[in-house]
Amino acid sequence: MTASKGYAALSAQSALAPFSFTRRDPLATDIAIQVLYCGVCHSDLHMARNEWGQSVYPLVPGHEIVGRVTAAGSAVTKFKVGDIAAVGVIVDSCRHCAPCQRGEEQFCNEGATLTYAAPDRVDGSITMGGYASNYVVDERFAHTVPANLNLAAVAPLLCAGITTYSPLRHWKVGPGKKVGIVGLGGLGHMGLKFAHSFGAHVVQFTTSLRKKEDALRLGADEVVLSTDPQAMKAHAGSFDFILDAVSAPHSIDDYVTLLKQDGTLTLVGLPDVPPTFSVFNLITKRVSIAGSMIGGMPETQEMLDYCGQHNIVSDVEVVRMDQINEAFERMLKQDVKYRFVIDMRTLA
Ligand code: NAP
Ligand code: ZN
Ligand code: ZN
Repeated sequence: MTASKGYAALSAQSALAPFSFTRRDPLATDIAIQVLYCGVCHSDLHMARNEWGQSVYPLVPGHEIVGRVTAAGSAVTKFKVGDIAAVGVIVDSCRHCAPCQRGEEQFCNEGATLTYAAPDRVDGSITMGGYASNYVVDERFAHTVPANLNLAAVAPLLCAGITTYSPLRHWKVGPGKKVGIVGLGGLGHMGLKFAHSFGAHVVQFTTSLRKKEDALRLGADEVVLSTDPQAMKAHAGSFDFILDAVSAPHSIDDYVTLLKQDGTLTLVGLPDVPPTFSVFNLITKRVSIAGSMIGGMPETQEMLDYCGQHNIVSDVEVVRMDQINEAFERMLKQDVKYRFVIDMRTLA
């Protein structure tokens, strides 16, 4: 067993606090990494507070991990000791079902193993996330990182990056398409960067007028204050695709009505309350409401390589491990530009 320390929630009501635990020893195809940086995803907050009703305690969050390889099993081919490796939301899957064979492990028919709060397929223990000193993972679920990118700013690519890159690719966002991004948070700001980079006309929707200048700098062609009904109405029936990355309950119909015929509103945000919407708004333009979850291992590597080629990273505020509870509170106040990343070497 490998000793590990990190920060855990012991219940849905408790703040994160220092916590010691063990990880399994690396198998032949596993690597062990020292965690250097871990991004703070809103899912970490939802899970720490059991907002989706599926949390298991003690719960060590963190699934935007960049680290240095400290051990590599005898069959490992992608990494050697000293290399940088990155790990996202999935750390294992059945590997034989059709989605796994296609490299869409996030849709594994037997259920992918999540980076934290899930039963480990190897030893049955509950996985503990990246708010920790180290991680042990099969190399199939670890990625290489382009050497030109800042490592702290790479960490959020492992969830916020791939969760927005994948649907924008799937729905073929590119030149000639009018695309909306809803919510300028961790996911939203990456969606904005990618949609702009792919050549679409991008409209950023936000409830925070103070973020307008940032949105324009990050690549928005237009910024719309979603609480202004007139500004929203001006875009009615005009979008090919809208990506909704909002973490709290809000009106879906406000965005469905902005789609043109056959347009798609894809939800990636996961508020704790299910949305409601008018079917009339769907049938009158044959529009779709869809969902998308992170991305598979090949596409995650493709996204990282794309970021290396185009110099795309997250805009981050690096914090100490003992600032995590404050970071959670600031995230809830929409006060983050645009992702907190924990410098794991500050773990006391
Ligand atoms: P975040 O950084 O907190 O950003 C969420 C943004 O939503 C905020 O910045 C804010 O943008 C907007 N927002 C917040 N409260 C709102 C409200 N009451 N009404 C309208 N807008 C509001 O969160 P994140 O890390 O990007 O995560 C976003 C959501 O995606 C979370 O629910 C998370 O669990 C989920 N998620 C899903 C996947 C997946 O695979 N589908 C993966 C990762 C995360 P403005 O200030 O611009 O309005
Ligand atoms: Zn996440
Ligand atoms: Zn599978």
